[in-house]
Amino acid sequence: MSTHNIEQQRKDWDTYFMDIAYMVATRSRCPRRHVGSVLVQGKKLLGTAYNGAPMGAKDCLEAGCMITEEFEIQLVGSQETVVKKQRCIRTIHAEQNLLLFTDRADREGATVYVTDQPCWTCANMLANSGIVEIVFHRSYSKDSEKVFSLMEQQQITIRQLTNYEPPEQAVTDVNS
Ligand SMILES: [Zn+2]
Ligand SMILES: [Zn+2]
Repeated sequence: MSTHNIEQQRKDWDTYFMDIAYMVATRSRCPRRHVGSVLVQGKKLLGTAYNGAPMGAKDCLEAGCMITEEFEIQLVGSQETVVKKQRCIRTIHAEQNLLLFTDRADREGATVYVTDQPCWTCANMLANSGIVEIVFHRSYSKDSEKVFSLMEQQQITIRQLTNYEPPEQAVTDVNS
């Protein structure tokens, strides 16, 4: 293979780290949602995490998901509709686990790649974690507006990879 072809096949950094986040997500044992996140400092991988129950506690495959029901107001056209949503609250979110398993010093000025757009609680914690950039792939529209405005206030870059295709072996169904 010529060096030219190798260069063409070489993944850019966003793809490279998002692929890793998706592979990390395959470790999740919550059948409803597999989320992976990685901490990157100057192109160096400094931590990985996925959503899961606390160590030693029964996980979703052993004890089933812990489902709560919430009502959400969604705008369909100009019409507000109330939608009932089910969520699993057994797991610690991937971003929160990432913060539990990395050092503050490693996070200062770092980027977090996460398969799914952070929820409000995770975004709030990330905003206080020292990181300066969040890169995500799948949208999570529920908290999107407030998450984006928080990051703007905090001068943390948040961006979505829109032309990204996850690795085939890492793709799972998501029930949100
Ligand atoms: Zn679950
Ligand atoms: Zn979250």
